[in-house]
Amino acid sequence: MQDHVLVVNCGSSSIKLALYGPEDRPIASALAENLGTAEARATIRTNEKTAIALPDHSDHEQGLAAIIDWLEANRMLQSAPGAVGHRVVHGGERFSESVVIDEAVTDAIEECADLAPLHNPVNLTGIRAMQSLYPNVTQVAVFDTAFHQTLPSHAYLYALPRHWYEDWGVRRYGFHGTSHACMLQTLSGRLKQPSRSTSLISAHLGNGCSITAIEQGQSVDTSMGLTPLEGLIMGTRSGDVDPGLFDFLQRKGLDPTTINQTLNRESGLRGLSGKTNDMRALEQASLDGDEHATVAIEAFCFRLARYIGAMMASLTHCDGLVFTGGIGENSVRVREKTVARLAMLGFTLDPERNRSHGDGQQGAIHADGSHPVYVIPTDEEGMIAADARTLGAQNV
Ligand code: ADP
Repeated sequence: MQDHVLVVNCGSSSIKLALYGPEDRPIASALAENLGTAEARATIRTNEKTAIALPDHSDHEQGLAAIIDWLEANRMLQSAPGAVGHRVVHGGERFSESVVIDEAVTDAIEECADLAPLHNPVNLTGIRAMQSLYPNVTQVAVFDTAFHQTLPSHAYLYALPRHWYEDWGVRRYGFHGTSHACMLQTLSGRLKQPSRSTSLISAHLGNGCSITAIEQGQSVDTSMGLTPLEGLIMGTRSGDVDPGLFDFLQRKGLDPTTINQTLNRESGLRGLSGKTNDMRALEQASLDGDEHATVAIEAFCFRLARYIGAMMASLTHCDGLVFTGGIGENSVRVREKTVARLAMLGFTLDPERNRSHGDGQQGAIHADGSHPVYVIPTDEEGMIAADARTLGAQNV
């Protein structure tokens, strides 16, 4: 299929949209923010960045329509796209791969909404908006959880009463699956071996952070759980805490909603530093002598190193430890501090290769004789575009 493909990622008050040309070449991307408020606005990035006006209080459908109008008026999209790919956060146990969206699929996404109340409903809003803008175009759902449906039961079950799993689906699902799958695909391509024989540890470190053990092409352990709150320290999310904290805080007078919001939005790097969730800003603050920033970075790397150690228990060999996401791809310091704790596991960095992010080395940043360590840029949107194109072509 040589048509264009659109990729849509709807957040609660935002839309990220990307337009891909034939051969999945990215042509334009758009970001709409503050939807539903008087400050609703959008920018489109092609070779340059353009702000476009949105009506006050634009909702998702109006935001998408304005972006598509602009792409059409500027001759980037001259006919309906061949397919639209939607990022959907939670597919529960129903979806282990991307699917063409029909009514049964939208019903299932709705059913999974109690597992991802902040994400699935708004993902559905984006799907419905695009269905009404393009009623005859194949819409494809690509799930954050799908790649992790290969987790064995010893990895996905919590040590909780069994009926919580059976009755309510309480288990570890894992997220960022598209990015971890992208690491598998890219590393196996670089190593010129099939993905089914590639094993790695993939550390996706962006605003959200998760780590996955991939054994012979399959996700076998991952740090995020029932929700994206579990695991590593993230920008504003706490990651692992003692479950006893909930009772303690409730006895201190905090209600469950406040506790949940604080763990999701005011914790992690932001909570530890008392300042910001932005790693680049924290690194600067630490250089300027801010002790809270220094300890936030130290805690982030310590937790990450612990998890890398834990992930080794799921692998029989490791073709690479891979860093990706905004922090993983760009922070020399985080990689250095994390891997410095892993010498006993056989990982050592080459400082110069680390400083240049593996440029000219196929992303390799390890010292000679170490287990391999790579920096690989993630391309979740490209993965969604490719799935949408494939399923769109099968669905004509
Ligand atoms: P998202 O999960 O929202 O897609 P990103 O993957 O873009 O986020 O990651 C954002 C994080 O990457 C921020 O904490 C940001 O500070 C960090 N980051 C980006 N560039 C650098 C850099 N040069 N050094 C350190 N951290 C960086």
